[in-house]
Amino acid sequence: MNPTPTLPNYINGQWCASSATEYLEVINPATTEVLARVPLSPATEVNQAAQAAAEAFVSWRRTPPTERVQYLFKLKNLLEEHFEDLARTITLECGKTLAESKGEMRRAVENVEVACGIPMMMQGTNLEDIAKGIDEMMIRQPLGVAAVIAPFNFPGMIPFWFLPYAIACGNTYIVKPSEKVPLTMQKIFQLFEKTGLPKGVVNLVNGAKEAVDAILDHPNIRAISFVGSTPVARYIYSRAAANGKRVQCQGGAKNPLIVLPDANLEMTTRIAADSAFGCAGQRCLAASVALTVGEARHSFTEAIAQTASKRVVGNGLDQNVEMGPVISTQSKARIEDLIQKGADEGATVLVDGRNPKISGYERGSFIRPTILQNVNPSGEIARTEIFGPVLSLIHLDTIEQAIALVNSGQYGNMACLFTSSGAAARKFRYEAEAGNIGINIGVAAPMAFFPFSGWKESFFGDLHGQSNHAVEFFTQTKVVVERWPSEWTRQF
Ligand code: NAD
Repeated sequence: MNPTPTLPNYINGQWCASSATEYLEVINPATTEVLARVPLSPATEVNQAAQAAAEAFVSWRRTPPTERVQYLFKLKNLLEEHFEDLARTITLECGKTLAESKGEMRRAVENVEVACGIPMMMQGTNLEDIAKGIDEMMIRQPLGVAAVIAPFNFPGMIPFWFLPYAIACGNTYIVKPSEKVPLTMQKIFQLFEKTGLPKGVVNLVNGAKEAVDAILDHPNIRAISFVGSTPVARYIYSRAAANGKRVQCQGGAKNPLIVLPDANLEMTTRIAADSAFGCAGQRCLAASVALTVGEARHSFTEAIAQTASKRVVGNGLDQNVEMGPVISTQSKARIEDLIQKGADEGATVLVDGRNPKISGYERGSFIRPTILQNVNPSGEIARTEIFGPVLSLIHLDTIEQAIALVNSGQYGNMACLFTSSGAAARKFRYEAEAGNIGINIGVAAPMAFFPFSGWKESFFGDLHGQSNHAVEFFTQTKVVVERWPSEWTRQF
């Protein structure tokens, strides 16, 4: 048997063993097999990465954008070549199905593709003769060193909401993956190595709180992108901002989905089930509360209960499996406690997915789709992010009540409406307080060429991830006002 690998960091173009004194096990949540040991890197290793990135910045920012994107074209080709292996790695460490992992990697690749347009996207503006003989221009310049601190649920995609834009704009970069799922980024950095990117332009530091705090405090790191839970997002936002950094923090969510009586039942049920139970509910855009209006109460409840009960749960690598495990035994216990809490608050456990027996994977962290009916709208379970395959049903009489309930939540990541009425759709789009709106769509995830972020406690910051927002986040504008009097013109 091969010994369990210990993961190195990638700093200044070299794979280097960490000097950490603590390590965590990376565990396949379907089988509990230990896949690797990940170091909890000390602050000194973040400092080394920041130093290397700062040195690399000097010549990287002077490399023409057209040359910088050549490395991204190479990376795109390598990601395509290794697509299956990367998807498999995501499933191994994160649990989602292979189809879901492929979908995730496709989104990562799309961001590389969009960032290849930097020579157009990074352009500034200018105007001649702002006063007689005086011209003004606004140019965009990179910031320097930037970093991302990533969550466990999309180990391949989430760093790519930021990284391709950061380096294409001329910044240098540090990735701190989630310590729960560090293997995908290891593989992606092996591909970065093959692109021939100059040393120090991208760096990988594994770890947890100590590494994060070192990123937040390092004077060379100018910008930080964070994605994870709201309490950590708030902490990172305040500490990094207090240190004068540019910072964007995407936090947790509790996404509502409204079903009106005129919605197409078959389509709504299928899409709602995919939203609530896809990736075992561990998506920041997972629907976790369904608000049924009027007659939809009966038809939708019956249909979603049937669909939930039929979902095939198992190892995400196995064919025909529709839902994998949750990330860990701790997470499974937390989710099952919350289901019980919902019942204690008066909800009916209409479909109970707790403690399932999955043949061949008895030790895995599995929960089957669960549906709680008649959830108390002001109770804890209607408001807490469960981050598991649990859909709460709340029944209401009018769309106004439903929108009011949506807007009373602390989060604002996504809200969806299912209807065949254009007027209802417009009202919802106009009034719902969320950064991403789905109309007859269950996971309203923006493509790479649109910015992505939530509102309220789902986001701390101004500029979002992806697309033109990423370009603005990773550049600073400089305005130049010039006067070249014509009498200075020499005769040649
Ligand atoms: P998490 O907040 O526990 O961890 C995220 C990152 O923060 C990890 O890299 C971790 O090492 C670091 N971290 C954790 N605790 C820390 C602390 N006390 N100090 C410093 N660093 C710390 O999140 P998670 O469990 O990995 O991911 C799930 C969460 O992420 C959910 O709440 C989900 O909604 C959210 N999420 C949000 C989005 C979005 O776009 N809004 C996308 C994906 C996930």
